[in-house]
Amino acid sequence: MAMILHSLSLSSLFRRPNPNSSRTSKTATSIHYSASPSPHMENTQSKKRVAVCGGGVIGVCTAYFLAKKGAAVTLIEKSSVACAASGKAGGFLALDWCDNGAISSLARASFNLHRSLSDELNGPENYGYRPLTTLSLTVTESQTTSTSTNAGSSSILPSWVDGPIKSPRTIGSPETTAQVHPKLFTKTLLNKAVNDYGVEVVIGKVERVVGVEVEGGRVDSVVLEGGRVIESDSVVLALGPWSGKFEMLSSIFRVYGLKAHSIVVEPKEGASITPHALFLSYFPARGGKALDPEVYPRPTGEVYVCGMSSEQEVPDNPEEIAGDPDSIQVLKRVARTVSSHLGEGEAQVKAEQACFLPCTDDSIPIIGEIPGAKGCYVATGHSCWGILNGPATGAALAELVIDGHASIVDLSRFSPTRFV
Ligand SMILES: Cc1cc2nc3c(=O)[nH]c(=O)nc-3n(C[C@H](O)[C@H](O)[C@H](O)COP(=O)(O)OP(=O)(O)OC[C@H]3O[C@@H](n4cnc5c(N)ncnc54)[C@H](O)[C@@H]3O)c2cc1C
Repeated sequence: MAMILHSLSLSSLFRRPNPNSSRTSKTATSIHYSASPSPHMENTQSKKRVAVCGGGVIGVCTAYFLAKKGAAVTLIEKSSVACAASGKAGGFLALDWCDNGAISSLARASFNLHRSLSDELNGPENYGYRPLTTLSLTVTESQTTSTSTNAGSSSILPSWVDGPIKSPRTIGSPETTAQVHPKLFTKTLLNKAVNDYGVEVVIGKVERVVGVEVEGGRVDSVVLEGGRVIESDSVVLALGPWSGKFEMLSSIFRVYGLKAHSIVVEPKEGASITPHALFLSYFPARGGKALDPEVYPRPTGEVYVCGMSSEQEVPDNPEEIAGDPDSIQVLKRVARTVSSHLGEGEAQVKAEQACFLPCTDDSIPIIGEIPGAKGCYVATGHSCWGILNGPATGAALAELVIDGHASIVDLSRFSPTRFV
């Protein structure tokens, strides 16, 4: 069976866990997270100052929920908001694909939060939120240019998926799978946080957290490259794969980057591309192991194709991350093999890119207060599910920082204390 379970091997790390039959017996319940200001903060009238470091989806979601709870939040990003994986991801969301694993409750809560955020922020219009049907397919590339071979061969295959397809199977319904445009989602949420809840955005590189040098010390500020000091009662480090380069974190646990590639193509016949996400077992013509690329049509008519991952050193500057030409070529072949609408001449290539998944040694995100550093929190290691899990991570961390405990999701499983 294709896509059986998330495995730790690099070739399949990008592969997401496959939902099993129990999926259909569960229904999506909506969580409406109110994020009311804490009574303590209302009483004292003094806002807790929180510096959130990192302007990816995890930092932005955390900043949003903290500010909504009444904190005075400064978001610090070294390059530009959503410049890394949070801007270049697929944006696929699944309710129950993580069931029976460590992130099951996080994923379920987050899927439902995405739904309520979409209502609040007009997600369909502002960032392409929409429910999807999701299929798994086996594709065998031929030596010659692909010809349409499967149009109409299966009732579940949409007509634009006209390549050499075998064994199509429905693995997600519009009740259990959805998508967002990740960059637009992150930016829309930040705009709301800035305009409605007063979040301040600072462009600068966080160099260190001050106040925690002495064992048991409490955070009092962060220092940026160039010496600017931002005073804070609490600090959240949401540095994605750069967590592994931040000594305060790397001295406790390892976070490494898995480089993955993607292309975005715009077919001439955009209107014929239906909302079907495709998870492939793709057999290249040259032989070798099956690849596991993913294909996500977007409401704009564009189609996003990703895959081809390997562990690599994360460059300091996110803007310097470029795709490896061979991997990009493979993704172009995948696109034209799956659909004649996505090949050269029929579609324009709008983006060729790469970015890094933030990965941990036990494949579980790290979310919680850093041992020995009171008031300093970390949120990283979301691997291939950071867009899905951003909202619940942010909402739970906001509760932890402001109220001292998280109720929306039990964060104990994610605590960095597991590494000490
Ligand atoms: C090809 C690909 C496809 C994906 N598809 C999906 C998907 O369909 N669904 C899904 O749920 N997930 C998906 N993911 C995973 C998801 O993109 C990541 O898990 C998520 O974006 C991680 O978010 P982050 O905020 O932790 O990290 P990032 O997005 O990497 O953000 C970290 C930010 O911190 C900043 N930063 C770093 N160091 C500093 C510093 N010292 N000071 C200030 N700022 C700093 C960086 O500039 C960066 O902006 C995909 C990932 C890839 C690579």
